[in-house]
Amino acid sequence: MTQFTHRKDTRPVKVGPLTIGGSDEVIMQSMTMSKTHDVEATVAEILRLEEAGCQIVRVACPNMEDAEAIPEIKKRINIPLVVDIHFDYKMALKAIEGGADKIRINPGNIGRKEKVEAVVNAAKAKGIPIRIGVNAGSLEKRILDKYGYPTADGMVESALHHIKILEDLGFYDIIVSMKASDVHLAIEAYEKAAEAFDYPLHLGITESGTLFAGTVKSSAGLGVLLQKGIGNTMRISLSADPVEEIKVQKELLKSFGLAANAATLVSCPTCGRIEIDLISIANEVEEYLQNIHAPIKVSVLGCAVNGPGEAKEADIGIAGARGEGLLFMKGKTIRKVPEETMVEELKIEIDKLAEAHYEK
Ligand code: SF4
Repeated sequence: MTQFTHRKDTRPVKVGPLTIGGSDEVIMQSMTMSKTHDVEATVAEILRLEEAGCQIVRVACPNMEDAEAIPEIKKRINIPLVVDIHFDYKMALKAIEGGADKIRINPGNIGRKEKVEAVVNAAKAKGIPIRIGVNAGSLEKRILDKYGYPTADGMVESALHHIKILEDLGFYDIIVSMKASDVHLAIEAYEKAAEAFDYPLHLGITESGTLFAGTVKSSAGLGVLLQKGIGNTMRISLSADPVEEIKVQKELLKSFGLAANAATLVSCPTCGRIEIDLISIANEVEEYLQNIHAPIKVSVLGCAVNGPGEAKEADIGIAGARGEGLLFMKGKTIRKVPEETMVEELKIEIDKLAEAHYEK
């Protein structure tokens, strides 16, 4: 199997204060559900996403009134804003003028050369990148006629076509996505894209489904790519609250050691030796860890049989015992705690470890 190192070898592209590409970092993105022209709703949604750890947010821009809302939204949020436009160059110009940190538009769909030039020149003047979004479901007719149906080669050909339009205008701040809802096709398309060009790749399995099914499907597809060193930014697309998309991305990046300063939870798989209400405790601790921004490993075990010794690598943890819990650090029991207060005591210890990390 070919092993890629594409992620680090990509061209660094600035998006606001962040850089996509040129390093092993994978930036987490999501997209709002509200109507973009509804500034109050859009800002509220973005602030919730920020709190969840979203690093870049994208808004849809189907109408001019959406593009006109960009300056006000920008004023009230703290993360880079990407504006998603199909075809209409006037909307693209409006969004750029309004302070978009990046636009998503396919230059080949804009139309006449002067219109493409106007958008590219505006993006250049503001120093913002353009994301080319290739989608298996909307490939150009010419490409579909050539390949018969959406293929990875056809998707790469489409990407190279859009890239060339930008490069011919001296524009290189490009990010590319190669989305498909078929996992095999998406993987192959991203692999071939990683061989074909060194622009950063925005990962995603499109229309992946609901919270449960979409999480599994996206993680299966994107996991393969992350493992191969492909992907500089990602959005997991779920038919769910966008905050859930960020939670899934965080967890996925943690699984590959790609999340800086993220706390992880190890919880036992449960069995008949269980002494505490393990599942609800694990869920509560997991929720708590969402807002801990330190590389702490926490373990929650249902019993003390194999208990702390099995979780030696955990910085802190609890193991259930009859009517009480054992609080342990690095595999050594530090004290017994009553069942009613064990989660609270664990949280206090987690906070202490996080504080120690923040002070470093
Ligand atoms: Fe079973 Fe205890 Fe292991 Fe959990 S920690 S799976 S309860 S033996």
